[in-house]
Amino acid sequence: EEEVNIYRKQNRIRIYGTDVPHPLKTFAELSDRFKLRKYLRKNLDEAGYNEPTPIQKQAVPIMLHAREIMACAPTGSGKTLAYLLPILQDLKGPAKEGFRALFICPTRELAQQIHRELKKLCQSKPFKICVLTKTNVSNDNVAASLQNFDILISTPLRLVHGLQHESIKLSSVRHLVLDEADKLLELGFLEQVDEIMASCTNDNLQKALFSATIPSGVEALAKSFMKDPVRVVIGAKNA
Ligand code: ADP
Ligand code: MG
Repeated sequence: EEEVNIYRKQNRIRIYGTDVPHPLKTFAELSDRFKLRKYLRKNLDEAGYNEPTPIQKQAVPIMLHAREIMACAPTGSGKTLAYLLPILQDLKGPAKEGFRALFICPTRELAQQIHRELKKLCQSKPFKICVLTKTNVSNDNVAASLQNFDILISTPLRLVHGLQHESIKLSSVRHLVLDEADKLLELGFLEQVDEIMASCTNDNLQKALFSATIPSGVEALAKSFMKDPVRVVIGAKNA
């Protein structure tokens, strides 16, 4: 335990919560410790991700233990992979059950970035991924095939429109990530995010918040809808 604390300190990882899983030292360790799927290991290698970043070291084991997480780490520190990797591990493969993972972010550009990172990690696994943009689900044919998708990436406004007008269903969602959560939980988005969360009716829903900053008001709000979350902070608290 002492050694683990020293390792966290070296990586500027601070944790708040009970029974927090130990951080990773390497991606290779995931194979033994969590039976990481071979395609994920291969795609990490092919993307040139040799060593996990500090947020990945701590967030990945927390999420693989099916814990809810509030993670705060600087811009450019690899937060996207930190949540994509454990969620893909849990999804196993394509399932035609409807959306099982939902990634919400404040802008379309960010949605495209998440999609790019996801495609790198999904190579050779035919997950069906939908990035909601202004036009792409508005015709009936696409709407009818929604059941075939596994993963949804959207902004709040676009998704609320989809819920109200395009028969998008979120009842199969097991993983909800709010990326850039500080912005998503501000007044301009809060109403939509509330509506989205209310549509995620699956009992096994697991929530994760990732952000560069988590103001105390946002933290209090997040705690009100999360189950025994672990909070992870990398570097200075609000840097
Ligand atoms: P954040 O969301 O924290 O701002 P990103 O998830 O966008 O950061 O990642 C920033 C960049 O770092 C991306 O180009 C991503 O591909 C790269 N990256 C992520 N994890 C690693 C890693 N373990 N090793 C090398 N590069 C990585
Ligand atoms: Mg990001």
